[in-house]
Amino acid sequence: MFQYHPERIIIDKAVAAEPLTEQICGRFPEVPTQLVENFAWHQDETGTDPLRNPLTQGKKTLHLKYFKGTSIKACPGFSNDLVCCNYFTLDLIENCPFECTYCILQAFLNKPVITVHANLEEILEQVRQRTVAQPDTLFRVGTGEHSDSLALDHILGIKSHVIRFFAKLPNALLELKTKSSNVEHLLDLPHGGKTVISWSVNPEA
Ligand code: SF4
Repeated sequence: MFQYHPERIIIDKAVAAEPLTEQICGRFPEVPTQLVENFAWHQDETGTDPLRNPLTQGKKTLHLKYFKGTSIKACPGFSNDLVCCNYFTLDLIENCPFECTYCILQAFLNKPVITVHANLEEILEQVRQRTVAQPDTLFRVGTGEHSDSLALDHILGIKSHVIRFFAKLPNALLELKTKSSNVEHLLDLPHGGKTVISWSVNPEA
C-alpha cells in the first residue's frame, strides 16, 4: 500500500481551528507542525525550491491552507465553441505524490509542496449554494484537476466528508478519478449513489 509521510506540516493561521486541520495533524502526531501567517513557499529556505530540489523532497512538506477563491468552477476546457459535458472542478488538494513521468502537473504547478485546502466546510457550502441556485442542472463535479483524487485519501481522510456531503445533493454527482487502489475506507460510506470512482492505469515501467 502506498504510504505518504510528511516531514513537516505547515499550518496557515486562518485554518488553525478547522476540523480538517485537527484531523490531518492527528494522523501524523509525531510530525512537527509550524503555525504561520501565510506560508510563502518561494521564500522558504528548507528545501522546497523546485529549481534546486527534486520534486519528491518538496512534497514532504504538507501545507494546510485557507482557500479564498471560488471552489467550484466550470471545467477550464469550457468554450462557447464546444459542446460542454457540464463538468465542474472542485479544488481540494494541489500536487500529487505519484509523480507519473508524463504528468503535466509536475511542470504546471509552480510550487513543490502538497497543499490541502483545509476550510472544507466553507468550500462545500459554496458547492451547496451553487447547485441550489441551478436546480435544473445536473452538476458533475471532479476533484482531480490539481491532484489525483484519491492518491492521499486513505491517509488524509478528506473524501469521506465530501462523499457524505454529495449524497445529500439532489442535482450533483461526485466523480473521483484516480490511479490509487486504496479505496477500502470509502466503500461502506452512505454515498447515496452520488459518487463515481474511476481509474486510469499505467503499463508496467
Ligand atoms: S496520478 Fe495523475 S495527478 Fe498524480 S502524477 Fe500521475 S497523472 Fe499526475
